[in-house]
Amino acid sequence: MRQVYLDYSATTPVKNEVMQEMLPFFTEKFGNPSSLYTVGQDSKNAISHARERLAALIGAEPREIFFCSSGTEADNWAVIETAMAKRAKGAKHIITSKIEHHALLHSGEYLAKEGFDVTYLGVDADGLIDLSELEAAIRPDTAIISVMFANNEIGTIEPVARMAEIAKRHNVVFHTDAVQALGNVDINVKELGVDLMSMSGHKIYGPKGIGALYIRRGVALPPHMHGGAQESGKRAGTENLTGIVGFGKAAELAGANLVSHIERVTELRDYFLEQVRARIPDIRVNGSMESRLPGNINITFKYIEGEALLLLLDMAGIAVSTGSACSSASLSPSHVLEAIGVPVEEIHGSIRFTVGDFTTKEDLDYTVDTLEEAVAKLRSISSVSKESGW
Ligand code: PLP
Repeated sequence: MRQVYLDYSATTPVKNEVMQEMLPFFTEKFGNPSSLYTVGQDSKNAISHARERLAALIGAEPREIFFCSSGTEADNWAVIETAMAKRAKGAKHIITSKIEHHALLHSGEYLAKEGFDVTYLGVDADGLIDLSELEAAIRPDTAIISVMFANNEIGTIEPVARMAEIAKRHNVVFHTDAVQALGNVDINVKELGVDLMSMSGHKIYGPKGIGALYIRRGVALPPHMHGGAQESGKRAGTENLTGIVGFGKAAELAGANLVSHIERVTELRDYFLEQVRARIPDIRVNGSMESRLPGNINITFKYIEGEALLLLLDMAGIAVSTGSACSSASLSPSHVLEAIGVPVEEIHGSIRFTVGDFTTKEDLDYTVDTLEEAVAKLRSISSVSKESGW
């Protein structure tokens, strides 16, 4: 059976060039980067090289890149430690949005338990933040504003530079979660003016379990792990050497291929969408079509359950998701689709397809054929229909 992977926003396969660079660091080049002898220093140099590569991808200085375990850790570190440090100076408020990843939403919940007021900004029907609402939410005691770069479910790309500019004008730290944007959008942190930015290796054809936080020089973010002097004393713990090497190589490839990647993936996305629109009635496309990640297609198929559709597609070898990978197991309606105003019964009929570097046109043709059949089948047995007034 054909296997089609259309969930590149959940994770990506490790590219062969990435794996080849990682392999020696499992075996002959295994030294602890903190050791003073040659094998250790070789590892330390490999980390420096990876830091340079990731810095180059986002227009940062290498010393502004701090490796950690994941995008989730980078989000927690940025938001919680900034808030806690500023609390000592009287801050007790943070601003984020309703469409953040749970790494951010749950950090907000944690801070609320710690006594912070948390403002969750709403979004319009395309998933875009209203800049005047953002500015109006800022208070004299606001510690940090954290709004994601690009949404993981609907692909909407937020106006990051303009949000950072507002934050700067009010002297508030600005953090963005760029886990989905990295490798899919041309990012230059200096031009954007962000203070802190989260990234993750496994979304850009690197390994899982490696992330990084960009900390603009001059931003005083306290460490959140305490121990050794790794990562300039900011993030203790023996480094994930192979992960860092892989992330570095993946970053290099992402930079070299950015233009062709965006072009190719956008073309595939638009081709898929055109086919689905032509062949399947009663659908709606969620998220902005103008400001959108190249590979994201989020579609509501009216009158059916997304989980049932997901299972039929899985039986045909096609991997897609309902909502984000982290929350799709919970079956609770997507907070992102809720925030853009999708009616609750339609949220349950929504599927995220994300295409990437290994997707082919043939994969998409097979998927559309299967989808057309599966949707028709589910609608024929559905208790709700257009006629029943849903
Ligand atoms: N932020 C966003 C927007 C994501 O999509 C994800 C992963 O899906 C994360 C954070 C978490 O990253 P990681 O899987 O590296 O913890």
